[in-house]
Amino acid sequence: MYDVIVIGCGPGGYAAAIRTSQLGGKVAVVEAGDIGGTCVSRGCIPSKVWLKATAILGMIRRSEEFGIKASSGEIDFKAIVERKNTVAGEIRMGMEALLQNNKVDLLRGRAVLKNAREITIDGKPSETKNIILATGSSLDIPDIPGLRDAIMTTDDALDMTRAPFAVLVWGEAGALEVEMAALLNGLGSKVFLVTPSPRILPMEDHDTSQRLAQAFREQGIQVITRSNLEAVKKSKKRFEAMISGRKEQTLEIEKVLIAARKPNLDGLGLKQVGVRQNEDGSVQVDEKLQTSVKGIFAIGDITGGWMNSHAASSMGVTAAENAMGQTNEFPFHLIPRVLWTTPQVGAVGMTEEEAEKKGFDVDIGDFPYPINGLAMSYGEVDGSVKVVSDAATEEILGIHIVGANATELVGEAVMALQLECTTDELAHTIRPHPTFSEGMMDAGRDSAGWALYLPRK
Ligand SMILES: Cc1cc2nc3c(=O)[nH]c(=O)nc-3n(C[C@H](O)[C@H](O)[C@H](O)COP(=O)(O)OP(=O)(O)OC[C@H]3O[C@@H](n4cnc5c(N)ncnc54)[C@H](O)[C@@H]3O)c2cc1C
Repeated sequence: MYDVIVIGCGPGGYAAAIRTSQLGGKVAVVEAGDIGGTCVSRGCIPSKVWLKATAILGMIRRSEEFGIKASSGEIDFKAIVERKNTVAGEIRMGMEALLQNNKVDLLRGRAVLKNAREITIDGKPSETKNIILATGSSLDIPDIPGLRDAIMTTDDALDMTRAPFAVLVWGEAGALEVEMAALLNGLGSKVFLVTPSPRILPMEDHDTSQRLAQAFREQGIQVITRSNLEAVKKSKKRFEAMISGRKEQTLEIEKVLIAARKPNLDGLGLKQVGVRQNEDGSVQVDEKLQTSVKGIFAIGDITGGWMNSHAASSMGVTAAENAMGQTNEFPFHLIPRVLWTTPQVGAVGMTEEEAEKKGFDVDIGDFPYPINGLAMSYGEVDGSVKVVSDAATEEILGIHIVGANATELVGEAVMALQLECTTDELAHTIRPHPTFSEGMMDAGRDSAGWALYLPRK
């Protein structure tokens, strides 16, 4: 009998399996598809390969600004797809080797729950003391008349052999839609980012949303909020998208990009064993990541929330530790959010609006990128670091970065929140110069009321 069987070997399940093994548990991970899950084959890694290509293209196009004459940059789509497949393949190989190295049994097949101590894999029973569900998510295609003829999913986009002339990116304008809009625009498509939400990135701080929307507009992306995609119809050029909302309009497009996702729970046997689900269909877990059934834990995309790989893998660690007898609570408030757009986005903790709603006397520190020396040297001056704190205690509640290197900088923001850092402590840190990280310290100083490099208020 296993101590733990993990179902699904994406970033969540993989981390859970290795952590269980480190703690001395006998563990198996069941995978019905490719190990690495969405992240490695259809998500984080492939999309970052593509976005790196567009970032290089962007630099080539700006090269004369830096005194370099480079040719204008031609895109070899096939080469990018090949590189993406190679990188993903190497990661999958490394993962498989590390599972072996950790003595994790990799069981190929589809798992179904029988009860809290038994599953079947392609019909064959297997017994375990604990189960960790990590089956991830898959595309959620909305039911819109005509959509199926024009659809381009994120999976399709990551294998594209040319850029469509015009793409309507449809959905909640969350991380996936926004990154896809940036990617397609970078590759030369005309992009319409259409959303029923009042603003893009509706779950992020309003300043983050506004800054990125402004940058997108400057880059030629048409952002259309508070609107609905009613239907897609064939037209002379390709398709017409009928939009209702603030303004009724018809957009000439070639493709509609869909990125929305739903938890992979069909046929898993949740109801049979009594695992409770939230209203949106995701699996309900407590702060120890245990479901409503003792001994069954759930992690990653199936639990809803921010749905990103680092949440999945850190939940994997906590669930494994708890399955092995520890009693650790998962810090949901420390999950960072990152976007490889231009400018990049990195955020953790409460937005200004959230902090106000929770009754804090909110203090804001803000440091603009144009005053940062490295940002000026690199010509990356679009951005700012915003620190949301509690005026009464000076504790930092959230940090919201828009700008170059935000995806890396947010790591230290997570550390600041984890260590319950105050704005005064952030203000008194020492940062190497010239680096983008100075902006964090300067935003802390602005919160503390003594920003050295900003005019006095
Ligand atoms: C285009 C795109 C870009 C993204 N970019 C980022 C990014 O930059 N950063 C980031 O953090 N996140 C990103 N994400 C999100 C990230 O990929 C997911 O949050 C992450 O993969 C979730 O991990 P998981 O382990 O919960 O599930 P998954 O990665 O989906 O893995 C679940 C695994 O379970 C298997 N499985 C399902 N059902 C069963 C079953 N019954 N039996 C056996 N196996 C089963 C599946 O085959 C799959 O391999 C992106 C997603 C997309 C689509």
